[in-house]
Amino acid sequence: MTSPPRRFLPYGRQQIGNDDVAAVTDVLRSDVLTTGPKVAAFESALAGVTGASHAVACSSGTAALHLAVMALDLGPGDKVVVPSLTFLATANVVRLMGAEVVFADVNPETGLMGGQELSTALGREGPGKVKAVVPVHYAGQCAAPDELAAAADGLPVVADSCHALGTAYGSGGTVGDCRHGIMETFSFHPVKTIAAGEGGAITTNDGALAERLRRLRNHGMTRDPDSFVRDDLARDGKGEANPWYYEMAELGLNYRLSDIHCALGLSQLAKLDAFCAARRALAARYDTALAELAPLVRPLGRVEDCDPAWHIYVTQIDFTALGMERAAVMARLAEAGIGTQVHYLPLHMQPYYRDRYGEISLPGAETFYQQALSLPLFPDMTEEEVDYVVETLGNIATEAT
Ligand SMILES: *Cc1c(COP(=O)(O)O)cnc(C)c1O
Repeated sequence: MTSPPRRFLPYGRQQIGNDDVAAVTDVLRSDVLTTGPKVAAFESALAGVTGASHAVACSSGTAALHLAVMALDLGPGDKVVVPSLTFLATANVVRLMGAEVVFADVNPETGLMGGQELSTALGREGPGKVKAVVPVHYAGQCAAPDELAAAADGLPVVADSCHALGTAYGSGGTVGDCRHGIMETFSFHPVKTIAAGEGGAITTNDGALAERLRRLRNHGMTRDPDSFVRDDLARDGKGEANPWYYEMAELGLNYRLSDIHCALGLSQLAKLDAFCAARRALAARYDTALAELAPLVRPLGRVEDCDPAWHIYVTQIDFTALGMERAAVMARLAEAGIGTQVHYLPLHMQPYYRDRYGEISLPGAETFYQQALSLPLFPDMTEEEVDYVVETLGNIATEAT
């Protein structure tokens, strides 16, 4: 037996350095805590690393998705295709617009909705009602973008890229560059690739759309005199804009991200390459070590033409062949100081969606879910800790079989 690890290994966590702490305390000592210089700096840095023309910061990944579907003007009667294997928020924002979710199946090896699964979902729905498609880059991998775009057949594609900041694809593509879609959304929750505490963003190459997203995140209001429509109220006798005046053009929310959060996000973004390199190296170590446990335990199926930043390290475990329930395996790992999680219960099986849409069968997502277990992965994890996780899993398997 190896000795127990010095620390509990969660399935994911942030890595905060003294530079991050200093960046945040600088803002706390400054005059502006909410929308100050750090918001614009963070947005421009994020646009830089993703290769998109614009990035709009907001209060969470959920807010980013909500703003994106608001900007698509979705409403009752509209439908949006979402893969069933994702976090709740991807589908929930569609419902918050009064629109309906069409759940697509995923590939049982990769967990991704590809062109084929999208075509099947669209075929099932028939034409007309579907207004957008929201693919999810599960675990950090992306399905072939050309195939997805072909299957989407002109429908707007909004990628939920919350798992995939730092992922490279195709020839020179970077997740977030919006080469294959109108918008992409990100989350800076601490388990994601970079942490802002809470935080999110939308990237786009459409300048007018970016301006609209900024207006929607701030109550739908504008202070830009050029866009005022009520001249009688907006201007004084000389035609100058009144100093107190702002206008609300449409319904919006407060989804702003504070300067405090943006300072942390900016400081973290500077370390994105190092975080991704660490994640890739640890994932490669897992891949090699887990080969010993095949075919009982298999790494997530891989797609071509993609260099994922690996938000989570997902394995597929044959719990039936193992003769042990997943909960029991998780409990044994937890006793050994190893945190695990299941990503995700397919959304069509959630009570809310089952009540709304009835029993649906999506065998790819269901098979994937039956076998999924995410093992610890975070940038300052060590290779010895990876080996310890795999060895512990191996010991559990040996005892069980
Ligand atoms: C984390 C996540 C979200 C939501 O992000 P929050 O910042 O937690 O609101 C949405 N979609 C996916 C796929 C995610 O992983």
